[in-house]
Amino acid sequence: MKTNNRLMKFPGLADVHVHLRVPGGEQKEDYRTGSAAALAGGFTTLMAMPNTNPPITTVEGWQAAQEKAANESLCDVALFMGVSMSSIENLPELGKFAPALKLYMDLTFGDLRIEGMDNLERIAELWPRGKVLALHAEGESVRTGLKLAEKFHRRVHFCHISRKDEIEWIAAAKAQGLPVTCEVTPHHLFLTEADAVRLGSLGDMRPRLASQSDVDALWAHINTTIDCVASDHAPHTLAEKQAMLNPPPGVPGLESTLPLLLNAAAEKRISYERIISLLSTNPRRIYSLPEQPDTWVEIDPDESYEFPDHALYTKCAWSPFLGMHIKGRILRVVLRGKEVARDGLVHDFAR
Ligand SMILES: [Zn+2]
Repeated sequence: MKTNNRLMKFPGLADVHVHLRVPGGEQKEDYRTGSAAALAGGFTTLMAMPNTNPPITTVEGWQAAQEKAANESLCDVALFMGVSMSSIENLPELGKFAPALKLYMDLTFGDLRIEGMDNLERIAELWPRGKVLALHAEGESVRTGLKLAEKFHRRVHFCHISRKDEIEWIAAAKAQGLPVTCEVTPHHLFLTEADAVRLGSLGDMRPRLASQSDVDALWAHINTTIDCVASDHAPHTLAEKQAMLNPPPGVPGLESTLPLLLNAAAEKRISYERIISLLSTNPRRIYSLPEQPDTWVEIDPDESYEFPDHALYTKCAWSPFLGMHIKGRILRVVLRGKEVARDGLVHDFAR
């Protein structure tokens, strides 16, 4: 339903936290489907996480994946480096290649969890100061991450902050002048633990959905402490999610992030200008992402529809936000002067 022709033009968006599942999880996603989902959702730049199978912890592994990503993706994709207990001493060398390091301090899958203060400090010391150290830190680990930023005078970025106390600790650290930044996910902004009950395994991710007071705290910091919104796009097939035994945590988000925020803007919970800061200006600055000239997203802020407005491009083909009423639609995406998507159709993608 179109109410008028007020159109908006956003710069190309950057999602700095996605899982594209290459190598080793191509049944869930690959560079082609993940980048098509990005374009359908208004993102022209992605930063992909290294907890693949095998994880990306070597120069050779990173270069091979980065080359494959460049060849197969429909938008720009940069890959994080990962670090395991056995690759810590290689960080100065690895830091010559990858733009940022992802460090898992808390529960995750694979071999990338780092334990012990000695190891954490060694990583904070060895990873180049000019490059971002991004942390998966929950609860007390956030405080440990803040200590690392302080002790080593280095940039630390906190991924998917989801709890009231965590965002308040980060706000206090920023007020003290520590060089820290943080992101929140749309699922932690728009869903609570009540939705987790309703959605079952389809609402299970790490960090888990939180209480209403946690969600309220994130919204209270949306114009101040929070630097970016990142989707933590973590696709798993429906069969995997609906398995009786140990369904894997994670939800897709590339195609729902901008629609959810546009809808929040239509409800006057956030400004359109702030959405641009959270999804483009700030993530591009934090990660020093290259400019994309003649790149923009055309939006009709007044058009209403039921999510999604197109057949999803993510290979997993589901979303925890199915059926949600959204006001604010992505009309067109232009990347380096070329129209790459229109009305939910990604041009260079044959299904
Ligand atoms: Zn993640």
